[in-house]
Amino acid sequence: MKEGIHPKYGKATVKCACGETFETGSVKETLSVDICSNCHPFFTGRQKLVDTGGRVDKFKKRMERQ
Ligand SMILES: [Zn+2]
Repeated sequence: MKEGIHPKYGKATVKCACGETFETGSVKETLSVDICSNCHPFFTGRQKLVDTGGRVDKFKKRMERQ
């Protein structure tokens, strides 16, 4: 049991409000975000991710309403 041997910076599990979870590098173990590249393809300016379950469509409709 030598947990202190590993640096704090490592993989962090990010949980998005849409339910998507993914891993990233962070000093925190868990992060929560309101939006991720999965439910917000405009986040990176590139739409390279596949729309799963019409989430993006739903989001676009929400954006149009505003
Ligand atoms: Zn998301």
